[in-house]
Amino acid sequence: MSLVEPGEPATLAAAVRAAFADHYGEPPTSLGRAPGRVNLMGEHTDYNAGLVLPVALPHATYAAARARGDELVRITSAQEDEAWEGTLAELGPRTIEGWAGYAAGVIWAMREAGHRVPGVDLLVDSRVPVGAGLSSSAALECSVAVALADLLGLELTDDLRRELIEACIRAETEVVGAPTGGMDQTVAVFGEAGSALLIDFTSHETTPVSLDLAGHTLVVTDTRVKHALTDGGYGSRRADCETAAEALGVTTLREATQEAVDGLDDERVRRRATHIVSEIQRVTDTVTAFEGLDWDALGRLFDASHRSMRDDFEISCPELDTAVAVAVQAGAVAARMTGGGFGGSSVAVVPDERVDAVMRAVDAAFALEGFRSPVHLRAVPSAGASVS
Ligand code: ADP
Ligand code: MG
Repeated sequence: MSLVEPGEPATLAAAVRAAFADHYGEPPTSLGRAPGRVNLMGEHTDYNAGLVLPVALPHATYAAARARGDELVRITSAQEDEAWEGTLAELGPRTIEGWAGYAAGVIWAMREAGHRVPGVDLLVDSRVPVGAGLSSSAALECSVAVALADLLGLELTDDLRRELIEACIRAETEVVGAPTGGMDQTVAVFGEAGSALLIDFTSHETTPVSLDLAGHTLVVTDTRVKHALTDGGYGSRRADCETAAEALGVTTLREATQEAVDGLDDERVRRRATHIVSEIQRVTDTVTAFEGLDWDALGRLFDASHRSMRDDFEISCPELDTAVAVAVQAGAVAARMTGGGFGGSSVAVVPDERVDAVMRAVDAAFALEGFRSPVHLRAVPSAGASVS
């Protein structure tokens, strides 16, 4: 069985400092840390001005930084073979190929927002599985943003946090070109230990929802089926949602009712909108179920959400369907796919004494089906980004 441990923050921070000194010949002056996340309910609802309920993971990305005396930017990652090097003047929308765009994009967006980020050396290392629907991208962006804020001597107030979130969103949507909605950066920065974060993308309010799991563990299973958000799937779902909103005469699907959606002519667009409208309601209901420790209700909500993503939004895959079904058979009280879809991870709420059995059952089912061996994480609700 393969379990990804989050590691001890102090140990990881020390290792990243040492790796930086080794790579660049001088120690870093700033270190940022930002977590991955698992979403408990509300998939593709962020860009529809809806609700989401993610949890920050104990698994995080660490970014070490040191200002340079010139215009050069150098970025290296423990997860990538190729380092990136360029100048501040080169940074901009779609000018950087590959993974470095997520980090360099933050430099560009912070400069666009008026921060005088200088030429800089950066090194990142992460415990967040990459491309697994657990938001390694926002963890990377936000760890870099926090490191740069520290480098500039800025205090991490709530206002600055909101500014950094916007810069990270611009890095991902404009520099990398992944049309994601903002949930990931928000929870990577505002996540709180012991809580999920209810985010409302109409009012832009974030509300911590204390999670008393009462003897349950959030088990995440990375199917290791890679998704790619810059591929067409994510963008085409987003386009279908916009088509539906336009046909209904509303600005976003947040304002749509199921009754109105039922009247849409295009069958595919109708199913897409049905997912969004029902999923937004499920976020509210999931908060209520967690607050009431109502595991039966939670099980029904997770099941309905998974079916909605599989059948109406069509973003699941055989590996995710198997992970979810087997987790429930093996004792999970609730399970669903999580994240943008087309691969990635599932999340299950599992009685503590069944955690091992659930992980083993999923492993066995994957072996039987001939799928790649999955990896598991314990998603202990953790804090958002910090200087470390
Ligand atoms: P997710 O955010 O769910 O992990 P994405 O497709 O949004 O998936 O982002 C994954 C991409 O982010 C990777 O392909 C890579 O380009 C970049 N990335 C994330 N973490 C790192 C890292 N530690 N080092 C280098 N690149 C990273
Ligand atoms: Mg991502």
